[in-house]
Amino acid sequence: MTRPPSVDQLARSLRHHDLPHPILVEVAREAIAQGDHEQADRMAAERKRRMLQPVVNATGVLLHTNLGRAPVRVAVDPTYSNLELSLATGQRGSRQKTVGDTLAAACGAEAAMVVNNCASAVLLVMAALAAGGRVAVGRGELVEIGGGFRIPEVMAQSGAELVEVGTTNRCRLADYTDADDLAMVLKVHRSNYKIVGFTQDVSIETLARAPELTDTALVVDLGSGLLDASCPWLEGPPPSWLVDEPAVRQTLDAGADLVLFSGDKLFGGPQAGIIAGRRDLVEQCGRHPLARAVRPGSLVLHAIQQTTLAYLDRRGDDIPLWRMAATPVADLTARADAIVGKVGPDLGLVSAPCDSVPGGGTLPTVSFPSHGLRLDGDFVTPLRDLERPVIARIENDETILDLRTIDPADDGYLADALTLLLHPAAVP
Ligand SMILES: *Cc1c(COP(=O)(O)O)cnc(C)c1O
Repeated sequence: MTRPPSVDQLARSLRHHDLPHPILVEVAREAIAQGDHEQADRMAAERKRRMLQPVVNATGVLLHTNLGRAPVRVAVDPTYSNLELSLATGQRGSRQKTVGDTLAAACGAEAAMVVNNCASAVLLVMAALAAGGRVAVGRGELVEIGGGFRIPEVMAQSGAELVEVGTTNRCRLADYTDADDLAMVLKVHRSNYKIVGFTQDVSIETLARAPELTDTALVVDLGSGLLDASCPWLEGPPPSWLVDEPAVRQTLDAGADLVLFSGDKLFGGPQAGIIAGRRDLVEQCGRHPLARAVRPGSLVLHAIQQTTLAYLDRRGDDIPLWRMAATPVADLTARADAIVGKVGPDLGLVSAPCDSVPGGGTLPTVSFPSHGLRLDGDFVTPLRDLERPVIARIENDETILDLRTIDPADDGYLADALTLLLHPAAVP
């Protein structure tokens, strides 16, 4: 038995992990407290591994909640910005107005504002426009989104009274118009589930045109945030898997007063919530005290502006989500063949078709053709353990690496990593 080292000695012996000294001291203390200082090295490695870091998404899930939903690239110079300064007047400006106007143009809305996420958009809209009032929601739309976001609970937090209308499977216009004294009708997109069979629903057009609801705000929580059903930012037609996914522009055209959606789902931007629609209502939301609590910072606003400009310029390729979504299967096949060629034959690695899914709690029953790599056996853990983790999936005892969600710039890394994994002897 050697004498246990001092905390300081042990921490200094862990310096090669490239972690700040106070964290190494923490690790050393914990290892000594556990009476096992020889575990300190492993514990430091684990601590390092827990840090936020880039991973290769080989799952084929375009919006993978555990991997940060939409991939975003933000180019912001390390400098000040006119976040809240009007360059025209030199007076204090609004962080919401600058980015909001651009966003409104892309949505086909009068006005728009950005908050922290779609959950806070729903909370703010309810609090600002319906607190103390009654809000009708169809019984088939009382959703729970992953992470514990439940419409009835958000409504309760906002101070608005939930009025459930219709039944789980069927809702008619009369269910809404028979409800007395409504401040708002809230339609919620069934993002992550479907109701099939004997069903009936009321369209946005029908609600917008109903004379009984003229003075009732019509708000639609779209969640996924497909900006335009015709996808004008893509060269080809909209991907077939988008069928029936409601879109921001069409929902506003149909007569919604406000639409709410996430920044990091099908919009393909950073985590954010977007409120778009009638100017008076957006401004009313902006004046509510909660707006200050759920406002985004300049990094997020920059990323939203960048994404919005790409939409307006029809540069779908500059939005990583759409570039990946629209990549032809033939391109993915060529990349997979090249990787297999590089790694070599007879190692159990084959180029093979697979299916991608949108993910992120959107389009729950949809998958679409893709191409990737298949490996006999379960390699999920060794792939995740790589220096730059590769997140793969298992299907019928095979490891699947879907190239659709992998940046082509990572193909070389993937080929080298697979070579190392499958054929260690080949590496000098
Ligand atoms: C995803 C979703 C939300 C929550 O969005 P976040 O941006 O994750 O807060 C709210 N409503 C609907 C309908 C959704 O699909």
